[in-house]
Amino acid sequence: MLLRHTTENIIDRTALTINPAKTCQPIGAMYAALGVHGCLPHSHGSQGCCSYHRSALTRHYKEPVMASTSSFTEGSSVFGGQANLLQAVETIFQVYNPDIIAVHTTCLSETIGDDVNQIAQKARDDGKVPAGKYLIHCNTPSYVGSHVTGYANMVTSLVKHFSAKSVNKINQINVISGWVEPSDMREIKRIAADMHAKIVLFPDTSDVMDAPMTGKHEFYPKGGVTIPELISTGHSKSTIGLGPFCTEDAAILLDNKCKVKFDILEIPIGLKATDNFIMSLSRAAGVQVPYSITAERGRLIDMITDMHKYLFGKRVALYGDPDILVPLTEFLLTLDMKPVYIVSGTPGKRFDVSMSKLLSKTVPEAKYKNGERADMYLMHQWIKQESVDLLIGNTYGKYISRDENIPFVRLGFPILDRVGHSYFPTIGYAGAMHLLTNILNAIMDKQDRDCPEEKMELVM
Ligand code: SF4
Repeated sequence: MLLRHTTENIIDRTALTINPAKTCQPIGAMYAALGVHGCLPHSHGSQGCCSYHRSALTRHYKEPVMASTSSFTEGSSVFGGQANLLQAVETIFQVYNPDIIAVHTTCLSETIGDDVNQIAQKARDDGKVPAGKYLIHCNTPSYVGSHVTGYANMVTSLVKHFSAKSVNKINQINVISGWVEPSDMREIKRIAADMHAKIVLFPDTSDVMDAPMTGKHEFYPKGGVTIPELISTGHSKSTIGLGPFCTEDAAILLDNKCKVKFDILEIPIGLKATDNFIMSLSRAAGVQVPYSITAERGRLIDMITDMHKYLFGKRVALYGDPDILVPLTEFLLTLDMKPVYIVSGTPGKRFDVSMSKLLSKTVPEAKYKNGERADMYLMHQWIKQESVDLLIGNTYGKYISRDENIPFVRLGFPILDRVGHSYFPTIGYAGAMHLLTNILNAIMDKQDRDCPEEKMELVM
């Protein structure tokens, strides 16, 4: 037993989190910044933080992640990191020549009280930012929030620094992407193109974090939202934010700054959330839903209908980011499955409200919790009290899956021990079929493995 110290008895904890269902803020800021073309994320702190953030992203996306650091020493930790950051900005523009440096803070620079806004302004005033280049920043103290908060903060910073107001609105819709895979961002663009809806998707990590092997190293891969596109987000007629935790702040700021009205939706995972996204995009862009999309929807429903007998009543435990968990819970309910245990390390009252709305009548026995101490340990304790038929979440669930012999579907961040997640979408109708295939395969593989010989079926 890998997790033999997990007890069935739950004792109230007030100050201890064990195996958190989240990671640190700057990782999210770094991932969002990589979704901008020609952008170099910069970590204002020590090398250790930057190395950890880069390696976490590299291990998940199997891509090299470029980022720079202010390289704090004991001296900068005591006297402040201004000199390091000013030197870094000058050197980075000279040596690595990005279009944008996107600075995020770390626990250390936040704790010593570095005013990054003031330092960035000083860098501009001192002429360290060449003409036509940009220096942007956001605060990401990792002792509050999670990687999701960091992602949201950097996305908001993109709006703050780039979106430009225009009285003449253009027939363009902003789609602010929550934290999803590059494959999902590519899928959002494919759906919009199929619908003939003109969108600006930001951030957009497709062709950055899933860049093809060409034999030539591109320091700044060809993907990512461009600076002119970011500026034009203030000219768009409306915004759709996908995932409230990741996108709502940015959408509100865009409305306040440039008068672009917005609609916040769940990330389109599963049937209903995808329906909402398609209809919202159709209304906003003034376009019809084409037959190709309706047919995709039909194929998903056909698959659900065909395989329903393997899904009905199955108990599921899930964990990860709230923007994924809410639409995933809704999808599991659509499949007549029972999401019984749900935890997220990301704080925020909206999680409770959304889960209560989805589960209070459908699965009244469901237990869910987010924020502090909503950790993997607690979920494992719940599972020990009454087991589940399926576990869905990031790689860290593999220990629980093995100890308790529970089929396991990997979804979310990070996935460190499998591939495919960054290449095949989970969102949209096609993505839902992919997700459903993974769920069915996990359940049916267990049935084949564990059933008595006389019950072994060739045709399922
Ligand atoms: S010190 Fe803070 S920012 Fe750095 S890796 Fe740890 S949690 Fe993240």
